[in-house]
Amino acid sequence: MILLLGELVKNLILRLKDGGIENPSLDAEILVSGVLEIERYKLVTDRDRLLTKEEIQKIEKYTLRRLKFEPVAYITGVKEFYSVDFIVNKDVLIPRPETELLVDMAIYWGGTGAKVLDLCTGSGAIAVVLKHSRPDLDIYASDISEKALKIAKKNALGILGPKKINFIKGDLFTPFDGEKFNLIVSNPPYVDAALKGKLQKEIDFEPEIALFAGNKGTDVIKKIIEDSADHLEENGVLLLEIGSDQHDFIHKNGKKCGFTVSILNDYAGLPRVATLKK
Ligand code: GLN
Repeated sequence: MILLLGELVKNLILRLKDGGIENPSLDAEILVSGVLEIERYKLVTDRDRLLTKEEIQKIEKYTLRRLKFEPVAYITGVKEFYSVDFIVNKDVLIPRPETELLVDMAIYWGGTGAKVLDLCTGSGAIAVVLKHSRPDLDIYASDISEKALKIAKKNALGILGPKKINFIKGDLFTPFDGEKFNLIVSNPPYVDAALKGKLQKEIDFEPEIALFAGNKGTDVIKKIIEDSADHLEENGVLLLEIGSDQHDFIHKNGKKCGFTVSILNDYAGLPRVATLKK
């Protein structure tokens, strides 16, 4: 049995690679440093460290889960987003780096003290980092999933402290009858429901309700655009993360609802963040 940290990591990378895992080195490093609760650089500086039987067993358990394509973030239970560590489990979508651009835009558009709504908050990633960067904002965050809200509340409490965000359970705008906001942000489900089960194996572990929507992924986005008009103050802004093939749909529907639409490319050069101004 391997007992030295350096050897274990080397061996683990090979096993993950053989198992068809896309980023074997990165995943091995995150899994092992997660189990040992050490910074990743220590895997190199402490490569001669002897591992205990318990540590080896726990790493083995994590490895077997990863070899079944469970995402690393669900195995370790954390995912970094906007330089903040978020608790995640299978009830919430794992925050993606692309969504950081949506946060940048929200920080840009949110005026001082603005009333902001984060629809489909999931893990709470967007709402929490927004409040973290901009304590002046008055933030509401909602989700249809009770289980997701539980995680979002845990994240808000751990990262921001008590009562910093107003969490509300409900389907899109249903709980906000007659309420208006200066800014609405959302990373809604927008993946084409026809692709269910046909994407990366890791995606199968994530909640379908957070990912998929009918009509080529546009159903939920369409509802949000239509209802936002009534829920935005004058000069209010709606920011949406969208699929890279949905820009024509957004332009058309946004215009129909009286918005001025512009769409920003993400860092990979794909049109992913829509800005709709009232
Ligand atoms: N960005 C995610 C993906 O491509 C989708 C997120 C979403 O539907 N909101 O897997």
